[in-house]
Amino acid sequence: MARVPPTPLPAEVPFRDVSLTPQELVRYSRHIGLSEVGEDGQRQLKRASVLIVGAGGLGSPAALYLAAAGVGRIGIADFDTVDLTNLQRQVLHDTDRVGQRKTDSARARLGAINPLVRVETIDEELSAANALDIIAAYDVVIDGTDNFRTRYLTNDACVLLGRPNVYGSVLRFEGQASVFATSDGPCYRCLFPEPPPPGLVPSCAEAGVLGVLPGLVGTIQATEAIKIILGIGETLAGRLLLIDALTMGFRTIRLRRDPGCPACGTREIQSLVDYDELCAPHATAPGHLPGTVQEIAPRDLAERLRRGDPIDLIDVREPYEWRIARIDGARLIPLGQFERAVAEIPPDRDIVLYCHHGSRSRTAAEFLVERGFPRVWNLTGGIDRWSADVDPTVATY
Ligand SMILES: [Zn+2]
Repeated sequence: MARVPPTPLPAEVPFRDVSLTPQELVRYSRHIGLSEVGEDGQRQLKRASVLIVGAGGLGSPAALYLAAAGVGRIGIADFDTVDLTNLQRQVLHDTDRVGQRKTDSARARLGAINPLVRVETIDEELSAANALDIIAAYDVVIDGTDNFRTRYLTNDACVLLGRPNVYGSVLRFEGQASVFATSDGPCYRCLFPEPPPPGLVPSCAEAGVLGVLPGLVGTIQATEAIKIILGIGETLAGRLLLIDALTMGFRTIRLRRDPGCPACGTREIQSLVDYDELCAPHATAPGHLPGTVQEIAPRDLAERLRRGDPIDLIDVREPYEWRIARIDGARLIPLGQFERAVAEIPPDRDIVLYCHHGSRSRTAAEFLVERGFPRVWNLTGGIDRWSADVDPTVATY
C-alpha cells in the first residue's frame, strides 16, 4: 500500500462555513472568553474530529472532556462490553451498563453531556485491514489501548497517515503520556522499537492500577488533543511525561526521532503488518517460574561490587530510562532484546539483573534460570531502591 504523505488537519467542512449558534456561544462561553481560544478556536473545535481508540480507563476521561469541549466529531473504537471490574476507573460507563457494549454506553453518556457533538462508534477491533480507513477519517488520534498489538498498529497507521497520536499508558501507580507521529517528532516505535516478549510486561489486570491514574493521564491526553486542534501552547511532541502518583512526581524527558525507526525514520514500514505475529508468543518465550530466582538487596550488591567481585550487572530497562539514571558498571539489554541477547551473556559469571522497581528484571532472571544459568540474582527494588539505600546521586523517576 502506498504511503499517504502527512497532511494538515483535513478540513471536511471549510472553516468559513462553520459558525456557532447562540446556544453554542453560551455553552462554550468560558472557552470563548480565553483569548487563546476565542470564537475562532471554538469553531476549530467544532470542525475537528478525534478518534479515541479504546473506551476504557484512558478513553473515558478523554471522551468526556472532548465532548464537553465541543469537538465536533468524536469516534469511539472499542469492541468490548462493560465489565464490573471496569467501573473502578472507566468513568464513561455506569453500573447499569454492565454487560452492554462500551460503544453504546459511550454514545449515551457523551450525548447526555453534549448533544451538539456527533459521536461515531466503531464496534470492531482495529486491525491491519481496517485501521487506515478508520484513522484517516479523523484529525487526531487518542491512544487509549491497553495492549501492545493495538498500540503498535495505531502508531504505524498514524505515522503512515500523518495523524498526531496522543499516547498514554498506566500501570499500578505510574503513568506516561506523549504526542507521537507529528510531522517532525518521534513515534512510539522510536521509544519502544519492538514489543517485549509476551509475559515480560504485566497488564493492569495482572498488576493492578490505581483507578484515578488513568483519569489523570486520559485528561492530559484530552488536553493535548485540544491544543493540537487549536494550535496553541507546546504539546508533548518530543517529550515523554512520566507520572508517579505515589510521590505525585511529574517529570518530562526529551525524546528524539530515531533515524533508524522503521516507521518514521527509514520509513520501511509502508503498510500495516501482521500485528498478531509481532506480538504473538515467541517459540522460546520465557515461562514463569516464580520463586526460582535469588534476590540481592542493593546494600549487599554494593558491598560485593566494592570488594571487586566479578559481576555481570545487566539493566533490562528501556533506553530512555537508561538515559535518566543507571548504576555504574552496568550494561543495557532492554527487555525487548533480551531473548536475542542471551548468547552474549557469559553463563559462568555471577549475573545481577535490575530494572526500575524489580519486577521486569525478576522475569528476565527467571528466563535465564530456566535456560540453565546457575548464578542469577534479581536486584530487589530495582534502581529505585538502589538510589534510596546506596547512592542518592542516582536520579529517581
Ligand atoms: Zn519512529
